[in-house]
Amino acid sequence: MRILLLSDIHANLEALDACLEEAPEHDVVVNLGDIVGYGASPNEVTERSRQVGNVVVRGNHDKACSGLSSMEDFNPIAGLAVLWTRTILRRDNLNWLRELPPGPAHIPGVEGAQFVHGSPHDEDEYLLLLPEALESLDEAEPSLTFFGHTHVQGGFYAGPDEAAAIRPIYDSHGTSEKYVFKLRKNVRYLINPGSVGQPRDGDWRAAFALFDTRTFSVTYYRTQYDLAKAQQRIIEADLPERLATRLAQGR
Ligand code: ZN
Repeated sequence: MRILLLSDIHANLEALDACLEEAPEHDVVVNLGDIVGYGASPNEVTERSRQVGNVVVRGNHDKACSGLSSMEDFNPIAGLAVLWTRTILRRDNLNWLRELPPGPAHIPGVEGAQFVHGSPHDEDEYLLLLPEALESLDEAEPSLTFFGHTHVQGGFYAGPDEAAAIRPIYDSHGTSEKYVFKLRKNVRYLINPGSVGQPRDGDWRAAFALFDTRTFSVTYYRTQYDLAKAQQRIIEADLPERLATRLAQGR
């Protein structure tokens, strides 16, 4: 089975469209949450996610933007985006977001893999560094977890005698590229496809990944998208300008 992994789209329609166009053939689409928040196309992106998502878990922004949770833990700019998104979301999209499950999610027929937004034990936990990731890896059952939330493409692994972060290696920041990462048996993995709509790993290109159960490998992708258009929409919506400028920096 070939599983397309999308995460942290954050209402960036141009980035989502580019990823779907670039995506290789696949059988299932898994969406790891944070469909809305930050970007200026929450209705369009929610609609597209409803059409193409076979398995979806909710993110913290989906909860806040649909009124399920407060904005307590959000910084002022993120909070403004939540308020704006709440006013603009159509009722049917808001209800759909509100009913998304927290995860971990599973796919029938795909043994040994789970799908979460934050970490296996806490949907809101950030797994940014190896020490905290190791705690999750030590306890994780099944041994292969796909997660998002940090907007950093790559992940972590822990084998019998070594543990490390995974960071895809690319030649440029300019063109569309991919990076194949072969998985091994008896190793535990936390795999992050990266953020479609607001990368924070210094690379502005939209990120996603494909998990192929037959070849037991993950292919990471970075793809160019119409950045100027996404920025223009943010400015025209009167959202904080920083939400537009950060897209160009990948921060
Ligand atoms: Zn996010």
